[in-house]
Amino acid sequence: MYYRCPTCNLVWYYPLHECVYCHHNVEHILPQHFKIVGITNVNIASVQNPKVPYAVLLLEDEHGQTHTRKTFKTYEIGQTLDWPSGKLDLKTGVALQKIGYDFEATLQTLLTLFPTRTFDPAQKILLKVTLTPTESCPLLTSPELARLMIAWLHTNGAGQDQITLVDRLPRDADVDSILTTSGFAELAQTYAWINLTTEAHESIPDQNVLFDIPQTVLHANFMVHLPILKIPTHKAMAPITESLATLLPGQLGHNLEKMLNYRTSSNLLPDILHVVDAAQAVVNPSSDSFKTVSPKLLLASYSNKPLDRAIADMARKPYHDRLTNTDTNLLGEELAVLQSEWSLFT
Ligand SMILES: [Zn+2]
Repeated sequence: MYYRCPTCNLVWYYPLHECVYCHHNVEHILPQHFKIVGITNVNIASVQNPKVPYAVLLLEDEHGQTHTRKTFKTYEIGQTLDWPSGKLDLKTGVALQKIGYDFEATLQTLLTLFPTRTFDPAQKILLKVTLTPTESCPLLTSPELARLMIAWLHTNGAGQDQITLVDRLPRDADVDSILTTSGFAELAQTYAWINLTTEAHESIPDQNVLFDIPQTVLHANFMVHLPILKIPTHKAMAPITESLATLLPGQLGHNLEKMLNYRTSSNLLPDILHVVDAAQAVVNPSSDSFKTVSPKLLLASYSNKPLDRAIADMARKPYHDRLTNTDTNLLGEELAVLQSEWSLFT
């Protein structure tokens, strides 16, 4: 991403918020068009790149800057790539992007792969975060990602009073201390904050199953869900749906089944954008142990099941049987590249 001062017309190639000369806010420019100016074919495996052969493309963008990209596909010098290109379907689309040196640019690139969404002043928006560690998962939602997603909501028309941060914490939780420890204290001072456990819930039947939904969730128009990426290696997985199931009270396994059966047409839940910050992820070799790994990935989707299917495919782990008929449409990083790198972690 480039940063341009509209007044001085100067361009920087590293993240900054204002012009160093006139202090005007800079514009963010994402390169869109890439020409292949060099190809290096690699036939010798290394620790970081165990699967061969692959190629590294040397790309030049429309601003004259060069980039590299690993690929298992065949390209020719002189070919142009529009990347990211296209728009993802809200039902099946999954965007994947490796986190580069500029986290904000990576996130913006990811979000441009979906149709633009605008919010009107009457809409209520929730940000579902994870603020407490569990025995099997020490990772919490990154406050930086939460801040950037709130900035994205503001850019698309949402006001400060429309946004509420939510999580499901124990009834007797010391919320102030949790907000401080997790790095969310400042955000919780600026935006409303709700512990879903202490909310009134409504029981609503859908396909003969009762959904107990917190009223805040029931009456929201949009939710940004920021789950932690957890890859169990000992069982079929659906980690994003499992995280979504924490919206409901009660036993997680039971709620997971409900959420895997949930139809978007039921309208019990708002539209949800799932953004997975896998700068760090958790691998569970067994049910009572974990290790953290650094896949340095961002993933996003408006549908939890295609996202779960894509994550299982990426990690080449068994997926939950209810994901068998789930269609996915991937855009961004090549799945083969992610699979080869993920094999280092498991
Ligand atoms: Zn300037």
